[in-house]
This record gives sequence, structure tokens and C-alpha cells, in this order.
Amino acid sequence: MSRPLKVQMKRLSLCLLFAYLPCLAASIRVGGIDFVDIHDLAQQYHFQQKGSVASQTITLFSQWSKLVFKEKERHCFFNNTKIYLNRPIIIRGHAMYISRSDWDNNLRPILFQKPNRLYCIVLDPGHGGRDMGCQSLREGLDEKVLTFDLAKRVQTLLLKRGYRVHLTRYNDVFVPLEDRVALAKKYNADLFLSIHFNTVPQTYVQGIETYIVPPLNEASSGRDTLIAADREYSSGIAQNPWNVLFGYCLQSTLIKSLHADDRGLKRARFKVLKEQTCPAALIECGFFSHAGELDKIKTTAYRDQIATAIVDAIGTYQQK
Ligand SMILES: [Zn+2]
Repeated sequence: MSRPLKVQMKRLSLCLLFAYLPCLAASIRVGGIDFVDIHDLAQQYHFQQKGSVASQTITLFSQWSKLVFKEKERHCFFNNTKIYLNRPIIIRGHAMYISRSDWDNNLRPILFQKPNRLYCIVLDPGHGGRDMGCQSLREGLDEKVLTFDLAKRVQTLLLKRGYRVHLTRYNDVFVPLEDRVALAKKYNADLFLSIHFNTVPQTYVQGIETYIVPPLNEASSGRDTLIAADREYSSGIAQNPWNVLFGYCLQSTLIKSLHADDRGLKRARFKVLKEQTCPAALIECGFFSHAGELDKIKTTAYRDQIATAIVDAIGTYQQK
């Protein structure tokens, strides 16, 4: 057996072992929520540890992974990609804790989840018809035009790799969100990706962000408190391990390939995601409201770069 193959086999067997091991870390209850000791996680999963409670930052690392936790932050970094958490990291006594739900639902899938097989990929160009999406009056650009252009570029590259690819719209028409979900089911999609660009009033904000559906009884990344919708089950929730892995592959690949600001892997109950029956993510590929980013987005060369990064991310997901 060649050395790289040996390493791969060792990694695979470790993954399979850890994927089915229950989390054995010591836990505490805070505000009715279960939190687990990060030091214990390091021991159980054979990570080395740097930093300490005194420095308010702990880094766990192995040959393949580096996780950085900071007290009070509602996110962590996995191999330098920002992953939003459901609860902030806390310190109690001499230990740092992460919520058990965050470990199980946000980090374990990136470490141990295997992808599903991909044959058919459905790309969803955001907006269309009377729904323009965001607009730049300065440049005379509509989001719906660029999402369609980008989806076509991604489709061309995926077809070359042998995937079956469908779009949720093939021209400038309005397609209701529920119809986009129904189309993914009709095509028997193995993966669904909704493509968007973003806009905010703060013109300094730029970068890439990826959204997936939150677990049951967990809030969206933008909120601290639960609302009624957070307590409703939807089929997309069952896809969580694959959603996380797919979302992580997208976010990490795009920020590195495009040298873009990392706005993180986030959670939101977007209608186009929550009723999916296959792994699904929505990607915001940059801000119309940031002059420098829009100058890049409006070029075909940059949209080709985004398309290549998306296809590379799908390739990375498939090889995990
Ligand atoms: Zn949009």
C-alpha cells in the first residue's frame, strides 16, 4: 500500500470510529442548555490543544483540522473559515465550553460526515421576472441577471464534470420559492444550490456568506431568541450533516479562491432551503452595495472565478 493511501485509510477508519462515538466530554447546564468541556473534546477526539482559559482562546488541532474557540464569540473558526454557532462559547470555573448542539450539529459534520453521492445538481438563480433582487442604479445592474449568468457558468463547468444539471429557471421569469423547491424534488436532485448577490446600507461591508437551515429549536444566525418558526420541523433539517459539510466546502473554497472577506457559514430558515429533501445551501456571492466588490462582480472574468470556485467546492464536498 502506498504511503498516501495508507494515510487516507487511517484517516477514514478514524473518521468512521469517531463518527459513531457518543460525545463523552463533561457537560454542564447553563440556562437549560447542555454545554461540553472543550478540553474533554480534545482528549476524546485526539486533538492537541493550544491556548488556555486564561487567554480566553483555545485552539484544537490535528494533522488535518484546526478549530479556534474564543470566549463569548458566537462563532468559531474551522481551518480559518468562520462557522456561526447557535450559542456563544462560555467559560465556567477553569474550563471553556461549547454547547453540545453546536458540537453535534455544527462541527462534528465537518469533521466526520461523508457526502452523499452526486448525480443530479439543481442550481437556483435567485430572483427573476418582476423580482429584480438587489440593484445598482449606478451600474444599471440587476441581481436577477447576474445570478442567472453565474448559474449558467456553473452549469457549463458541472456538465463537463459529468453531472446532470438543472436550473430552476432558464430565462428571465418569476418563479415562486415553493416552485423552486418542487423543481428540485421533481428532478430528484442530490444537491441544491441557490445563487444570490447581496446588498446592505453599510457600503463598507463586503465578502461571501453561505446559508444553511438551522437545526430544530435553534435560532437563525441573526437572532438570539427563538421564534415559533424555529420550533417547526421541516424536511431540510434532516439534511443537516450534509448541509453543514456542503456549506463549509462552499464557504471555505470561495473565500480562499476569491480572496474575499469571510462572512461565515450562517443559518437561516430561507423558504428555498427549509423544505428541501437533499443537501442544500444558499450562497451570497458578494455585495452590490460595496463599490469595489461590485466592480469585480460586474466583470465576466470574476464571475468565471466564482463559478470555478463553486464547482471546486462541490468537488471537495464529493471527495470528503
Ligand atoms: Zn438575492
